[in-house]
Amino acid sequence: PSLSRFLVVFAVSGGGLVAYSEANNIQNGAKIDELPEAGSEKKRVVVLGTGWAGTSFLKNLKNPSYDVQVISPRNYFAFTPLLPSVTVGTVEARSVVEPIRNIVKKKNLNVNYWEAECYRIDAKNKKVYCRSSQEDKEEFVVDYDYLVIAMGARVNTFNTPGVEENCHYLKEVEDAQKIRRTVIDCFEKASLPTLSNDERKRILQFVVVGGGPTGVEFAAELHDFVSEDLVKLYPSVKDLVKITLLEATDHILNMFDKRITAFAEQKFHRDGIDLRTGAMVVKVSDKEISTKVIKTGEIATIPYGMAVWSTGIATRPVVMDFMKQIGQANRRVLATDEWLRVEGTNSIYALGDCATINQRKVMEDISAIFQKADKDNSGTLTVKEFQEALDDICDRYPQVKLYLNNKQMSSLVDLLKESKGDVAKESIELNVEEFKSALSQVDSQMKNLPATAQVAAQQGSYLADCFNRMEECTKNPEGPIRFRESGRHRFRPFRYKHLGQFAPLGGEQTAAQLPGDWVSIGHSSQWLWYSVYASKQVSWRTRSLVVSDWMRRFIFGRDSSQI
Ligand code: FAD
Repeated sequence: PSLSRFLVVFAVSGGGLVAYSEANNIQNGAKIDELPEAGSEKKRVVVLGTGWAGTSFLKNLKNPSYDVQVISPRNYFAFTPLLPSVTVGTVEARSVVEPIRNIVKKKNLNVNYWEAECYRIDAKNKKVYCRSSQEDKEEFVVDYDYLVIAMGARVNTFNTPGVEENCHYLKEVEDAQKIRRTVIDCFEKASLPTLSNDERKRILQFVVVGGGPTGVEFAAELHDFVSEDLVKLYPSVKDLVKITLLEATDHILNMFDKRITAFAEQKFHRDGIDLRTGAMVVKVSDKEISTKVIKTGEIATIPYGMAVWSTGIATRPVVMDFMKQIGQANRRVLATDEWLRVEGTNSIYALGDCATINQRKVMEDISAIFQKADKDNSGTLTVKEFQEALDDICDRYPQVKLYLNNKQMSSLVDLLKESKGDVAKESIELNVEEFKSALSQVDSQMKNLPATAQVAAQQGSYLADCFNRMEECTKNPEGPIRFRESGRHRFRPFRYKHLGQFAPLGGEQTAAQLPGDWVSIGHSSQWLWYSVYASKQVSWRTRSLVVSDWMRRFIFGRDSSQI
């Protein structure tokens, strides 16, 4: 009988992963496979997830003295920034993924991959419980010496009724593929002779919910696909197409510079994309989306053919369950210290979208920067001194800058003015205590790094670096305790370096916000975008595939086959 037909019972034996096959040898307990025991000579590192954080960790891990076990339901790494391009076939799905086995095979390391999802972490006994991604959903247990949690996050629907049943997400490669098929499907359906014009209009109404970078980029890609390719193929229905972008706050691309937000909004108006800000989705049925205008409370309905939900992320249930176990039940996201070690645990690290650094020291650091700027120790700073201190803070904590951008504030002086009432900006001396109290308002935002690939990849490479040097530091059996104990740190804490961000806006135009507040919008930034994204590909294989997809699109346009 084939192996898959066996009743396979997994059990933990001596700490290793053991699977027993009934037909083969259940009586004598012969093992299909057995890992060396955790706690033996080679320390076992279990990595959960093959996304940006997990893959960056694996790519940068060089120390062969670990037994590395990777567990993820996805046997590939996906280059998520190109997913909006996959939704319309600007690049193909297979061009943006790389098998994880390819990534780890070149290494002179002992790395094993298991296609499974972790459904429970037992921190007390150092075990993770897993379920195979195959149809039979077999279960097994793996124990660890060190655990690296890099499971990412799930889509946040804010419990809005009908979203799960009726909307597309844009989080995984499969989501992008489904969207691509649905777009073509809508055009084919709308072209059938049996429909009324109203029905055609509804089917060709595409609604994007969420004006963040992903929603905006998808709306732009869809607009390009329709205006460059589909109008030629579906001339009879081309005038009925409408793209609507819904955003609950007053502006789209809130985390970008005001100039970029303004340019994007104007461009969308020019392109005929129906941009509705201040509109929150309250319900989605199979044919209609209900929105509430935040200022007036007025409810409006939009008939739609396809809706894409892209409003942010939330914690996965398995991580929530783990948080309850370790006394973090009152938090929204798993908290780590600055060495990425999960607070309240031993030997567990968390990185990427599933975690956030609890930067208790942020306020202390910021106070120290202000004290230093106060050269005459008077307790007050001039506006110039203040601005210098603020630049320092923004350099060190890019989150502060993102927060200020988000609030559409040009500087913290604006924040101070907001909290103090109207102060004449240039003429007063500003009190250090007042700065601190103004800053405490942004405290919670400062704790959260943005959930981006950039953060996840930098964290993965930082942690791998620590693991690479752990042994070298000392042969100290207490292991990574050195990561955190005060006064005995061998490793610098993790510091995020913001390298800038892009917002592709369609029509070969991209907005780029680079370090030093350098903003560039237009065709030249589009070329910068092409070069950066080509260079960031995880392998030469995907790099060449992505570049050839772009060339194919330039020459032949996008493919609209319904496959
Ligand atoms: P992910 O990359 O999501 O990886 C999570 C991994 O965990 C996956 O392999 C998953 O299969 C695995 N997993 C899930 N559940 C389990 C489980 N139970 N057990 C084991 N493994 C599990 N960021 C940018 O910086 N720039 C961009 O331009 C950008 N564009 C984006 C566009 C889109 C469409 C999307 C969706 C995201 C974009 N992001 C971008 C954000 C970026 O993709 C995320 O911040 C990043 O993927 C986070 O990395 P991660 O490793 O934490 O999680």
